Amino acid sequence: IKKIAVFTSGGDAPGMNACIRAVVRTGIYLGYEVAGIKQGYQGMIDDNIENMSRHSVSNIMQLGGTVLKTARCLAFKNPDGMQKAYENLKKRGIDALVAIGGDGTFTGAERFSSTYDIPVICVPGTIDNDLYGSDFTLGFDTATNTVIEAIDKIRDTAESHDRLFFIEVMGRDAGCIALRAGIASGAEAIMLPEKDTAISELIDLLEHGAANKKSSSIVIVAEGDKNGGAFGVAKLVKEKFDFYDTKVTILGHLQRGGSPSSFDRILGSRMGYAAVKALINGDNRKMVGLRGNEIVLTDLKEALTDHEFKLEDDLMEMSIILA
Ligand code: ADP
Repeated sequence: IKKIAVFTSGGDAPGMNACIRAVVRTGIYLGYEVAGIKQGYQGMIDDNIENMSRHSVSNIMQLGGTVLKTARCLAFKNPDGMQKAYENLKKRGIDALVAIGGDGTFTGAERFSSTYDIPVICVPGTIDNDLYGSDFTLGFDTATNTVIEAIDKIRDTAESHDRLFFIEVMGRDAGCIALRAGIASGAEAIMLPEKDTAISELIDLLEHGAANKKSSSIVIVAEGDKNGGAFGVAKLVKEKFDFYDTKVTILGHLQRGGSPSSFDRILGSRMGYAAVKALINGDNRKMVGLRGNEIVLTDLKEALTDHEFKLEDDLMEMSIILA
């Protein structure tokens, strides 16, 4: 290979810029040309591609979001779109790709590199931490820190007014952010998609807290919770439990932004570096992941097959014991 292109696709996540920077600088250091594709697969089809220099990624490490922008691109899902993307890459001499994104991005990468002679290595970038093959995804740590900061602030007002708050956090179908943020902020209860907590059980927890003279209570609700999120849980609780004053807060998109934590900066750098090394090593259709503090490669096919998703047993138990 001679020229590697990097792009971000799907949902943005803090740490993507650290990864872009690492791909560009590692590639150039090792003697390759590097290009940046804007707006993911859409930029491939629109030929929205720029050559990158060491300098073009200066001063981006601390920024949230992605300097290459991201997009959802329907056209890439059909053969004509893919063909157009391929022709644009070939025209520019791009013969290898690093894709940063989630499982949709991986699916596109897997299909593209199975059809054309351009190898792809993927980096898991999503705040949800719901991908197989990596203990942590890029952006998860920063998003969890952001959530904790927000809950701490809500705790101040909850405490001052003797209120019960239901706070909904992101994570799609996974409760990773909810579980960790709940433990780290001392939430009284956490509603997770991975665990069926009956409303009566939740009310028991809240009554127990009230009996122990807690003057405020915070319930974290994962957005994938099966009772209809924070509003749904609040409604069900209010039907059966007469608590002084209840409020619902949906944290929303503020969870996706912000300057990446040290963990995400290092993780992004490690993964970008490893992705370039993998391409040079002849790897294709693989994702880079972190497992037990080691960077490992997993076949995209393997990463994309359904695996049982499990939260850590000790954290699950602690979420009840420590509340
Ligand atoms: P994420 O990567 O965060 O899961 P999406 O699911 O939106 O986000 O996927 C990102 C992009 O990947 C899509 O907009 C589309 O361009 C591409 N993609 C997703 N699924 C496929 C597919 N089956 N074939 C080709 N491209 C796909």
